[in-house]
Amino acid sequence: MKVGVAVKRVAPCYTSKTCHCCNVIGHRQGKRLACLNLSCGWIGDADVNGAKNMATLRGLVPPLEAPRYCLAHGRMLS
Ligand SMILES: [Zn+2]
Repeated sequence: MKVGVAVKRVAPCYTSKTCHCCNVIGHRQGKRLACLNLSCGWIGDADVNGAKNMATLRGLVPPLEAPRYCLAHGRMLS
């Protein structure tokens, strides 16, 4: 561990299967995750998605609040 880097524990349940854009559980195939929310449709690396969810859980980024804006798609989610 590097000096000055805080380590915080996060429950890993569904962090890589839950879409970081809309919080809907997606379909994971290997390293790829496809969001099942038709209004979202995010597709990408499941580990990157999981890291974004863990950052949200630890308060590093704000949690999703309605109305929700998807950075990946540049539009509001319904
Ligand atoms: Zn989604």
